[in-house]
Amino acid sequence: MARERIISPSEQSEDIEIPTNNVEVYQSIRPSTLDQYLGQAELRERLSVALEAAKERNDPMEHVLLYGPPGLGKTTLAHVIANELGTRAWVTSGPALTKGSDLVGTLTRMEPNDVLFIDEIHRLPAAVEEYIYPAMEDFKIDFTLDSGMHARVVTYALQPFTLIGATTRAGLLTAALRSRFGIVHNIRFYECEELTAILKQATLKLHMETIDDESLHCIASRSRGTPRIALRLLRRVRDFSQVRCENVISPSIVDQALKLEGIDAVGLDALDRTYLETLAGIYEGGPVGVEAIAATMGEDAGTLQDVVEPYLLQVGFLARTRQGRKITSSGLNQVKSPKDS
Ligand code: ADP
Repeated sequence: MARERIISPSEQSEDIEIPTNNVEVYQSIRPSTLDQYLGQAELRERLSVALEAAKERNDPMEHVLLYGPPGLGKTTLAHVIANELGTRAWVTSGPALTKGSDLVGTLTRMEPNDVLFIDEIHRLPAAVEEYIYPAMEDFKIDFTLDSGMHARVVTYALQPFTLIGATTRAGLLTAALRSRFGIVHNIRFYECEELTAILKQATLKLHMETIDDESLHCIASRSRGTPRIALRLLRRVRDFSQVRCENVISPSIVDQALKLEGIDAVGLDALDRTYLETLAGIYEGGPVGVEAIAATMGEDAGTLQDVVEPYLLQVGFLARTRQGRKITSSGLNQVKSPKDS
């Protein structure tokens, strides 16, 4: 099993904020409107046009496929879209659906223009995929009643809906499924300024308004371009300052808090460093296949591909060549430098 990392972009239980003032509801710090969804300007522009057009015509919005590493706001966007349409978002994931009929309950209960969000859509079994084609295209599904000689296919008309598919591996999607989405968008890592703005917005909900911009920038710059990581680091810093520094937060306190968590100045953690060290040391910098690196590290190759490599590629510490993974000269410098520099 993959070990839990503080900078893991995958969702962990603490990502849902539980207020401390005994209010019984779970208050999420997820944005609920397109205005509160910061960064990704191009995507927001495309969506606001599609949303407005759909609302004017009282049609469902086009199906949307979002791809990119975990923690960049794909699930959040599904909720934002449903909220903007004034409808509901139904959330499921590829691995949870094993046969076509698993979707019948949800599809038949959805109200007009609701949003169906399928996470990890690349892991949808072929049988389910074929089942949703007519649902996506004509808002209808076929199901078989009885079996053997008496079997008959009944067509059921669905309410119009919007499917939002999310994937970390767009390359694994079949062309047939991909072509059925009207809007296909690559969600990119966020710039440091965008993450700083996301953190600032979150401080209001976390009652941390007194934190200065420089400290927020310091957290943002170590968050691997990922809002989920930025928000998690913000909480670690809050804990540290509460326990050790009488609630004072400054860039140097951020520094100490994150050092304690094993996160270095560029936001790499132990798993990233082990990856780079394995590549530089055991494989002499590469090129080498990811399966070999994963086997040496005792990690799952898919986990490395989803949560370690995208950021190392983005910051230029790693190169992917036809022959395999190769460390770059700045990656090599990173391995040689002490972890807190
Ligand atoms: P994904 O589905 O891509 O794994 P999520 O939608 O769960 O990611 O987002 C992770 C966290 O980051 C959420 O708590 C959400 O509040 C926050 N977040 C993501 N994108 C944004 C954004 N653009 N603006 C504000 N907060 C965001």
